Amino acid sequence: MSFQDQVVIVTGASRGIGRAIAAAFAAKGAKVACVATTLANATATAETIGGSARAYACDVSDSASVEVLFEAILADLGTPSVLVNNAGITRDGLIIRMKEEDWDRVLAVNLKGAYNCTRAAAKPMMKARYGRIINITSIIGQTGAAGQANYAASKAGLIGLTKSIAKELGSRNVTCNAVAPGFITTDMTAELSDDFRAHVEKSAPAGRLGTPEDIAGAVVFLAEASSSYITGQTLTVDGGLSL
Ligand code: NAD
Repeated sequence: MSFQDQVVIVTGASRGIGRAIAAAFAAKGAKVACVATTLANATATAETIGGSARAYACDVSDSASVEVLFEAILADLGTPSVLVNNAGITRDGLIIRMKEEDWDRVLAVNLKGAYNCTRAAAKPMMKARYGRIINITSIIGQTGAAGQANYAASKAGLIGLTKSIAKELGSRNVTCNAVAPGFITTDMTAELSDDFRAHVEKSAPAGRLGTPEDIAGAVVFLAEASSSYITGQTLTVDGGLSL
């Protein structure tokens, strides 16, 4: 129970990777704040993972809502030790057809959402002289992808954010790292074609797509107290696909 009574905040915890991350921390004794856009979805996760998990509704792109969210978490659960910025969306399209609103929304949720939550978590973590901030980026942030200019830019931005926060908060024993998943079986990737899946299975040394639990394991590792000398890094978890 290496996270016994630690407060862990996971955004986008209603399904997929976020739910697996929340479950992994709950299994290790953490008090998990499950954040999702609707309370019903956040509650579904909090009830499934058990322990002392609590559900919160918040659109992470909205800075005022994030302030209210953190006040509530501090009052209900106490000072957060771990923040996982996992909430993310895609709105794909080729650049010549990409609507401005699709560019703005993806950047607002994926990148500004992480800024909002990191800013809110940084103060209590600095005061406590302990913290672990983990941003879920993507291999697409490192390679780019046709049809995903907005998503790739947001995920590349998260890597820059990660390095900057690591530099700012390192002296207070607060680390900031990123995890870059490859292709993981979730609702987000449900529409990938069979051909593309076969391509991933053939190209990745691991011979398969990833599971949400594969990502949760990496996040838990970076959040461990014993990972205190790892900061500003991006850990790629893609079965070797990007080698
Ligand atoms: P998903 O679509 O299954 O889940 C995304 C979660 O984010 C949901 O819980 C959703 O409610 C939440 N969310 C969306 N907008 C939000 C907002 N404005 N405020 C709060 N929560 C919001 O996606 P997933 O596959 O589990 O992906 C999780 C993260 O991992 C994302 O950041 C995604 O970009 C990243 N990622 C996924 C893959 C993959 O292959 N699935 C690969 C690389 C990176």
